[in-house]
Amino acid sequence: MIKKYTNHLVFLVLLALLFIGAGAASLTTTALSDTDSETEEGIDIASVINLAGDEETESADNTNTNTVNITPIPTVRLDNVPVLSDDSFAPDLNPVIDVGGQPSHSFQTHIVDRGDAPQNIADRYGIQVETILGGNPNLSNEAGALQTGLELIILPVDGVLHTVSFGETLESVSIRYGIPQEDIIAYADNNLEFPYRLHPDTQLIIPGAQPEAGFVWNPPSLADVSNTNCAPEIGGGCNFYVNGSGFHVWPLNSRRLTQGYWIGHQAYDVGVPEGTAIIATDTGTVTYAAWSPYCYGNLVVVHHGNTGHETFYAHLSSIAVGVGQIVEKGQYLGASGNTGCSSGPHLHYEIRIWGNRDNPAYYLP
Ligand SMILES: [Zn+2]
Repeated sequence: MIKKYTNHLVFLVLLALLFIGAGAASLTTTALSDTDSETEEGIDIASVINLAGDEETESADNTNTNTVNITPIPTVRLDNVPVLSDDSFAPDLNPVIDVGGQPSHSFQTHIVDRGDAPQNIADRYGIQVETILGGNPNLSNEAGALQTGLELIILPVDGVLHTVSFGETLESVSIRYGIPQEDIIAYADNNLEFPYRLHPDTQLIIPGAQPEAGFVWNPPSLADVSNTNCAPEIGGGCNFYVNGSGFHVWPLNSRRLTQGYWIGHQAYDVGVPEGTAIIATDTGTVTYAAWSPYCYGNLVVVHHGNTGHETFYAHLSSIAVGVGQIVEKGQYLGASGNTGCSSGPHLHYEIRIWGNRDNPAYYLP
């Protein structure tokens, strides 16, 4: 039985020996080659770079095998590129639609006080009486009866304060007021800059312009006065609170009559320089203190209660009292002037007894 397998055993042993021998030879070869490559890396840097280059080539070869063609990006020297303005394409962080054109007005204001009348307000600020309307278009028809406490805009120059409407242009505003565009541009606080675009709801001063055509001072309506005992002819107030003595003093310190009492002029005209103090000739209540539509100009009327007397002080340059105010005999009413139908500075003094004009000579000392 052992003999039977001996040949096989010898064969197997020989086979095993053959395998072992081959393996030893192979191991020896590998060890030798490793030693070679270590030697190369350690010595030659150039060969390392070559190896890297070889790798790149290999990777390019790999992509080529995937059939994707990428055009190599050319190297660009940035200092050779022409540079356009660097904000040409960027959005503006703070967009401004139009830098110019915002007016920078600053106005004085005037609070209407008792005794104020359009003319004396205008005189006080050195403007034309129309300019009060020009700066306060909302006054409109109430301008002739200024209410105390009302705040008025006083324009720095004669003209009109115009609020720009949508669609208006400098040209249309110029035509509307008949004022050259150059004058509107030249008014510095309008801040108009080329190309002179107007912005709705901003306000322009139109120097030299008159309030809109057809606008008139509208005095208190006569129809508003029902009591015939309180200066109805000139629309005066009707309440009077005190009674006078019935004896008057002269309304000013001059007695130089330029026109006396006669049927065509039932009053006294006293010629005096503008600005002369005018006083109440007896105690009473102011029933009118405003511009008068009846040639009186700036007019003050004082009612002297149960004496039935009324005194009129006309053509004043300024008025210092208001309707309803009680004034004592000798109290300052305003300054003489040349307003209304007057050809020179003087005081027109009139006295009425229960509504009828009478000769002042009968009542003055
Ligand atoms: Zn007169």
